[in-house]
Amino acid sequence: MYHQPVLKNRRTLLERAEKFISDIYFTDCNLRGRLYGDSCPLESLASFLSSKRITFTEASKQTFAPYKVADTFGPTWWTCWFKVNLKIPDSWRGKEVHLLWESDGESMVWRDEQPVQGLTKEGEKTSYILSDCLKDEEPHSVTLYVEVACNGLFGAGQGSMIASPDSNRKFSVQKAELVVFNRDVRELLTDFEMLIDIVKELGEGEQRGYQALFTVNEMVNLCDPSDPSSFSKAHSLAHTFFSQRNGDSQHTAHAMGHCHIDSAWLWPYEETIRKCGRSWVTVIRLMEKNPEFVFTCSQAQQFQWVKSWYPGLFSQIQHYVKKGQFIPVGGTWVEMDGNLPSGESMVRQFLEGQRFFNREFGIHCKEFWLPDTFGYSAQLPQIMQGSGISNFLTQKLSWNLVNTFPHNTFFWEGLDGSKVLTHFPPGNSYEMKGKVEDVSLVYVKNNKDKGRANHSAVLFGFGDGGGGPTQLMLDRLNRVQDTDGLPKVQTSSPDKLFSHLQADSDLLCTWTGELFLELHNGTYTTQAQIKRGNRQCETLLHDIEIASSLALCQDRTFQYPVEKLQELWRLLLLNQFHDVIPGSCIEMVVEDALRYYEGTVLKHCTVLDIRSDGAALLHGACRALGSKGNSTGVFNSLPWERHEVIQIQDGAGKPDLALVRVPSIGFSPVRDTQPVVPVSVTLQANGTVLMDNGMLQTVINKDGTLASLCLINANREAISDSCHGNQFLMFDDVPLYWDAWDVMDYHLQTRKPVLEVVQPLRVVSSGGLRGSVSFTLRISDKSTITQEIVMDAMSPYIKFNTEVKWAESHKFLKVEFPVRVHSPNATYEIQFGHLQRPTHRNTSWDWARFEVWGHKWADLSEHNFGVALLNDCKYGYSVHKNTMTLSLLRAPKAPDVNADMGTHHFTYAIMPHTGSFQDASVIQCAYNLNFPLRSFQCTPDTEPWSAFSISTAAVILETIKQAEERKRALVVRLYEAHGSSVTATLCTTLPVREAWHCDLLERHDAARPAHITSEGITLNFSPFQIVSLLLIL
Ligand SMILES: [Zn+2]
Repeated sequence: MYHQPVLKNRRTLLERAEKFISDIYFTDCNLRGRLYGDSCPLESLASFLSSKRITFTEASKQTFAPYKVADTFGPTWWTCWFKVNLKIPDSWRGKEVHLLWESDGESMVWRDEQPVQGLTKEGEKTSYILSDCLKDEEPHSVTLYVEVACNGLFGAGQGSMIASPDSNRKFSVQKAELVVFNRDVRELLTDFEMLIDIVKELGEGEQRGYQALFTVNEMVNLCDPSDPSSFSKAHSLAHTFFSQRNGDSQHTAHAMGHCHIDSAWLWPYEETIRKCGRSWVTVIRLMEKNPEFVFTCSQAQQFQWVKSWYPGLFSQIQHYVKKGQFIPVGGTWVEMDGNLPSGESMVRQFLEGQRFFNREFGIHCKEFWLPDTFGYSAQLPQIMQGSGISNFLTQKLSWNLVNTFPHNTFFWEGLDGSKVLTHFPPGNSYEMKGKVEDVSLVYVKNNKDKGRANHSAVLFGFGDGGGGPTQLMLDRLNRVQDTDGLPKVQTSSPDKLFSHLQADSDLLCTWTGELFLELHNGTYTTQAQIKRGNRQCETLLHDIEIASSLALCQDRTFQYPVEKLQELWRLLLLNQFHDVIPGSCIEMVVEDALRYYEGTVLKHCTVLDIRSDGAALLHGACRALGSKGNSTGVFNSLPWERHEVIQIQDGAGKPDLALVRVPSIGFSPVRDTQPVVPVSVTLQANGTVLMDNGMLQTVINKDGTLASLCLINANREAISDSCHGNQFLMFDDVPLYWDAWDVMDYHLQTRKPVLEVVQPLRVVSSGGLRGSVSFTLRISDKSTITQEIVMDAMSPYIKFNTEVKWAESHKFLKVEFPVRVHSPNATYEIQFGHLQRPTHRNTSWDWARFEVWGHKWADLSEHNFGVALLNDCKYGYSVHKNTMTLSLLRAPKAPDVNADMGTHHFTYAIMPHTGSFQDASVIQCAYNLNFPLRSFQCTPDTEPWSAFSISTAAVILETIKQAEERKRALVVRLYEAHGSSVTATLCTTLPVREAWHCDLLERHDAARPAHITSEGITLNFSPFQIVSLLLIL
């Protein structure tokens, strides 16, 4: 095979081969220099600049002015449209002809009014193929349009990727010409590249690496770059090497094309639509040429965007979905954050996603796909299973800063015991390039389940507008499908991969509980307005659905607002994308997100927003429920009776307080009832204030801290000895890089109490139904805290209504409560349940959780006594030893330089209790804090009315909505919240004829009717189980 012996000098042989394909050295005589043949300028090039993202039809009507290559245009976020007239020389007959287009702006080529090719230099896509092999009958004169977005793949960060965008950046086209592309050179270059990489990857210890070295050296000997007829000998030498096969036991890498597109991040939502268009049209072009190429694609929202913006492209996608090449994955509306969305929001991510994929493609996703999210709730396995999904793919835990996650392929067991087969691709990436290093060492070495799992995923392709895979990546992978020394590589699909893993899963380990990411823990707090918008809108949609469901039963003419609600839900779900709700996005995205919650900015446009459109829906439902007259009534959307002080308007329209008693999921007129024990407020001689409502007694210092908080009946003090509760703290908050994302462990060393009093404590409400005091603290020259501490009659908790004027830089504001409780674990609410995390720092796994997330409450309890810290829009907590801390505000400067600047309003509450938090109704109190009783007009003779009630406090009726597929049917969703096995009876006064169990996608289970007796519907729950019922009216 070789024509003479070779000297034993590995280095010179290797470098010789490298230089033979170098695009820097010796291009005058090496193979790389022959990649392109002749070139030819364009006939003409003209441009038109638009400040908006306009349609092709609109753009093509504009007047275009001549453009010279290298002329600049901009600024950032504008669009430059080019009209390209070209004429291919006749002499190029038989050649492959490309339009070469290099620009620093992401581009789309349009031909015959259709998008045909995405071009992004950063994604190695600079060629539009005009002809594979030019024939006389092909058109030689062509007019194209190129739409160039004034942003790069990662937006336009000023100086660094995650810096806030430079709004004045200029862009240009650096190359626009016709070229002859020598495909045979490309093929041979790929042979060389793969062999050289095998030499390097296998190193000096492997016999096989030397075989690759001598092969590639002999190929240089055989190949004369100036004589294409010499290529085939070199190519067949490479082919012989690649064809030497593995044994049967070799690991199999399942290669799937992918293009992770963040639905918004360093660019706004609107640009994402074009990123999807550019990337997916590129994928379709590759599919036309490579019938075996498979591409996985998540996020129903992105498909919906492409459907409405690029209908032609969408039907091509439908065609390739049918062929099994373009595979919708994930089953969710967007790739959402895995921590912060509520349980019901997560259900809706799947409901909207799966229904969309089913309707548009006839597909049901069997895997959940979330490679890039900052942690995964322990309730996800049950929600996946309930949505018909039993496989899960991610990789983000490879980013852990402290501990290495021990598995790549394992069963993940959730809070309720549901299990899903889970795979983290051992390459720790969803953007591989199909290179030898991607399928070689990584797979052999990184796989932590060697001998247990012999299959793994390789996701390859540029993400975020890089346009996904390239032909080169496919060519690389094709060469090494079964090459001795490398894992086998097969074009695959999630289905094939998981079937292999499932079939051979006997030895797989199980991980129980949440998948906590030991990084990006600042995302529980950053962009507080988005978090508040999310929580409040989740609450609002909950209430609208319940009121509308009741209206549906009360008033035959009432139309359940199906479409409007779907639109509002989709906005909420979109904002739960994994760079939006975490707050890791640029300011433009924050503005969009806040506008979706509340459309104050663009009110003149027909843009929907959840709060105002939602308020109208709620009003409509209440009217159908009989809301008229001029007495005040109260609507309770929660499944227990509430007895609370609320603010109403008196007869003269002035604000007044009333103590109301409202039945479970029902309403009641306001009949002013006096509390058994009124609140007393006493200003003491030393300036402190004592408040007492018969359940709680507190002493508040002049600076607003709590000197004492006593649970009267139990005679227990909640605040730790010689400590103060409600202590505000400031920390320096300078992470290592990911500014909006990360709060590092060392910030804890910079703790400084906020001590400076601007306005000392004064009494605002002097008691009766409500006692309250207020004070103002100074954080710095620019920032202040004003707080009202509220004690209501009959309330087991004290509320802290807080306003912060915040203009800090790289600071973290928290509030802490050192409490008189000793326990190794604290409990945090998560989706449809709660979990415990340690309060100590024994192991690295414990201390890596120095900042954690929770939903509406966290609790620290010892036997028979505990303290809960509730909140109405916060997510960041920490409990260390006996100190409970709620994270309030951060001030990162990238990627949004103005993140969190301004005025913030939020409320938290402290609730000491006897018994367990379950028996003390901490869960219900946290709901009460988040779901205010809503007042509406009623006639004075309105009778209190309840639609649903449930026999045990352990079970919470979370959702009531109209069924997706049936008009006269409701879906109700309940969950077991205490962590107990329990039997519950659901009672309803609604005219329910039949009841069936259904899954989270509302598919009714014909084998499981729910029997209705005169008592109601009796249901058995295991701990944290979610149960959905279809109620036929
Ligand atoms: Zn992402």
